[in-house]
Amino acid sequence: MINDSINGKINIFGMTIDELRNVISDLGESRFRAVQLSEWLYKRGLQFFPDMNNMPKSFIEKLDKKYTIQRGEKVVQFTSGDKKTSKFLIKFHDNVAVETVLMRQSYGNSICISSQAGCNMGCAFCASTINGMERNLTASEMLAQTLYINDLLKKEGEKVDTIVIMGSGEPLINYDNVVRFMRLIHEDYCMKLGYRNITLSTCGIIPGIERLTHEGIPVNLSISLHASNQEVRKQIMPIANKYDINDVVKAAEIYASATGRRITYEYILIENVNDTVDHAKELVNLLRGQLASVNLIPLNPVTERDWKQPSAGRVEFFKNYLLKNNVTATVRKEMGQDIKAACGQLRNRNLTSL
Ligand code: SF4
Repeated sequence: MINDSINGKINIFGMTIDELRNVISDLGESRFRAVQLSEWLYKRGLQFFPDMNNMPKSFIEKLDKKYTIQRGEKVVQFTSGDKKTSKFLIKFHDNVAVETVLMRQSYGNSICISSQAGCNMGCAFCASTINGMERNLTASEMLAQTLYINDLLKKEGEKVDTIVIMGSGEPLINYDNVVRFMRLIHEDYCMKLGYRNITLSTCGIIPGIERLTHEGIPVNLSISLHASNQEVRKQIMPIANKYDINDVVKAAEIYASATGRRITYEYILIENVNDTVDHAKELVNLLRGQLASVNLIPLNPVTERDWKQPSAGRVEFFKNYLLKNNVTATVRKEMGQDIKAACGQLRNRNLTSL
């Protein structure tokens, strides 16, 4: 059972069907009402108990006395000029706010959610870490980000098709809440989202990858690698001081063989830092023969840092080098540059005004 108490009331939003059954029997009602309640909460956007018009009034009053529905609240939304990317800042009961991004891709609607408010992993290219980590998000708060956008899309006859947990935060540091969230959105009574439509992105927390390998939920795993050797990785990702790059790749390889899921390695290309031919060669040696692909991301200039995006020619060369050497590679399309869609930038700009 989640212990999510707000202003003396328990947050019911984010409970599993079994937890809802327990709530209902504690209130002396028939357990079959749990299915109705879950529909209201997860499919019909319920915000206030009295809006449930198929429930007895006495039951609603009992619920209202003890429980609350915390779905978060949108503070601000920006949509890119081409309308394909929208970025939302969603605020929770204690004024903590996080970013959630909707990307309308050719293959469907993809959202990127945050798992922590801020982050303390310190990756040098990332705006989310500049103000440190405020707190972990609960499963309910991750669900709130997801259903907020799903409900918006429903009005257009669409839905969220894929979810990436790649916004602010390191999900494997907030393991229990993140796994709970992924299980919940997979359930029929919630979003019925296949595990293959969920991607968890980590900077390479090896114990977390090992635990996830045995969790029985074969989600896609994405590793923020961003370097081809330990020395460069240490310069840009402090987590490399704790976990060796070879051990991270090994843990991911074991995950891939246990789940059958191809690993995606995220690689932000930074001019003269990790984009030379030697880096490309090292990357090939590290990944050749694995069930993996590399997602190359030309650095999205973060105003707070002083690094440059490589030229388009350099990016193309790097990609082709990998492909020629049998390592699958793609270059990520830039989306939403005009609304500062890079990780953490919107939240940082709004921190002072919340
Ligand atoms: S890239 Fe991810 S893990 Fe690294 S600081 Fe940013 S949010 Fe944290």
